[in-house]
Amino acid sequence: MKLQNLAEHCYAFTGSVTIGYCIKEGKGLLIDSGLDASSMKKVIKILSNEGLPLDYCVITHAHADHFGGAHFLKNKHGTSLFAPKLEKAIMENSILEPIYLFNGANPINDLRNKFLEGQSVVIDDELKIGENSIGPFTFEAIDLPGHSYGQVGVLIEDVLYAADSYFGRDTLVKHVIPFIIDADQTLDSLEKLLHIPCKGAIPGHGDYEENFVYTVQENIDLHEERMKSLIALVNESSEGYSFERVVKEYLKLHKIAVTNVGQWLLFRTSVTAYLTSFERKKLLSFTIRENELIVIPH
Ligand SMILES: [Zn+2]
Repeated sequence: MKLQNLAEHCYAFTGSVTIGYCIKEGKGLLIDSGLDASSMKKVIKILSNEGLPLDYCVITHAHADHFGGAHFLKNKHGTSLFAPKLEKAIMENSILEPIYLFNGANPINDLRNKFLEGQSVVIDDELKIGENSIGPFTFEAIDLPGHSYGQVGVLIEDVLYAADSYFGRDTLVKHVIPFIIDADQTLDSLEKLLHIPCKGAIPGHGDYEENFVYTVQENIDLHEERMKSLIALVNESSEGYSFERVVKEYLKLHKIAVTNVGQWLLFRTSVTAYLTSFERKKLLSFTIRENELIVIPH
């Protein structure tokens, strides 16, 4: 983990997940809190070595790698926490993520790990979409749903902390099919990113770039290709494939070999999100045949 200077008052701890940091009038603001207590201990150590303050933390969305460290931050360091409405509810009841991944049933133990279920934490206050003021900081919370329901990007001092609204090139290649909960919202948020005037942006996983629009465009291109290959697969069978078969064949097509239940459920959610977008456009429908969920092309 390294502290990188992005602009006069703006920094980021870079590593597997970005943690933003801003300083103003002797107060410090974090953007996201990393996976767990150990990542927050590293952040606090670097800040105290540099003589930098820490008072507030804004959390962009309720995925464990972005909020898992918040419990430690609040309880051991007294940091005030802020998050968007629906994401706040999930952080405060973090079993909701394994619950929704497991179709709403009480999740199996395999899913109850720190990567899918961050430690629950009470959030002090809700962020509103648009301008927010916390202590000496004024910033804009930009609504960027699609990767999660209420995800926001934080635009502060001309730097955009974009959360997981887009991914750096290496992460895109690594994930193959990025996690999304809504394909249309994902693409709308990506389009929105192309027109946000700022000096530069940093995603939740990837590097700070001034010309980040090229990386955003790569994300758009990737989703469009993923959707094209999925509808082609669905269209192969006029009477329809079972949903399970669509997932299986689609992962095979993209040379993905899943190694655990959690990873499979994450991919299934993204495939479902693409299929839902096609259903809205009346390119396919869902039905039940012989007790199986079937995807029928139109
Ligand atoms: Zn995320």
